[in-house]
Amino acid sequence: MKSTPDHPALAAGELELEHVRCDLCGADETRERYKKPDTGRWTSDFEFPVVECLRCGLVYVNPRPTERGMAPFYAGDYHEGRDSAQHEKRYARQLEFLPPLLTQQLLDIGCARGDFLRHALGRAPGLQAFGVDAYSPGVGDPRIDFQQSSLLECRFPVASFDLVTAWAVFEHLHQPSAYFAEVRRILKPGGSFVFLVTNAQSLWSRRAFGEDIPRHTFHYSEPVLRHYARKHGFLLQRVCFDDRIFDGRG
Ligand SMILES: [Zn+2]
Repeated sequence: MKSTPDHPALAAGELELEHVRCDLCGADETRERYKKPDTGRWTSDFEFPVVECLRCGLVYVNPRPTERGMAPFYAGDYHEGRDSAQHEKRYARQLEFLPPLLTQQLLDIGCARGDFLRHALGRAPGLQAFGVDAYSPGVGDPRIDFQQSSLLECRFPVASFDLVTAWAVFEHLHQPSAYFAEVRRILKPGGSFVFLVTNAQSLWSRRAFGEDIPRHTFHYSEPVLRHYARKHGFLLQRVCFDDRIFDGRG
């Protein structure tokens, strides 16, 4: 859908763009995979380059809108409708990827209205559930300890959680390294981080140009995640290629 006169598209000169080095290895040598405008919402018809780091293989948008410059790309209803009944199946599938739930301290990053946590509490009432989301005004369940904030602003104490989850969040970040480091800091020794990201090696990403550009700032692969894990003190235990949570349309 093209933008309407009420929501004029940003011209290239109105974009706040920044050039960034590779978030994973710090190199600045890339090859361009493809270029694409915001075909999801037509906020701008600027063609954003999607590049691949020649040293480590991380795929990312570069140059990209700054964090502040990203706001128009999330305008309107982008963060709405994530907790409707049709998502209940998704929450049940997400639970399949977690260890057996009992009385753990569980944090969900980007928890929206907290419906996944509520689902988990339905399965294991003894859980201690925490949620953070910079865009959600609150959660509807008093059992969930919620903060409207980005993870980096929360300043949880060291070793706070047994389990941290992030479903389709890390492909939207501006600094994945800072987030991996923070998750590592707030996980208890032996704790687990379970997350879903887009796969830069998939047909959807590589050949169908299906990434939500420029909102999907980083596109991951198994070798890249292994490298992030090594860098931040995690052990990458299991990688599942599964499109049942979000299908190939994103
Ligand atoms: Zn790199």
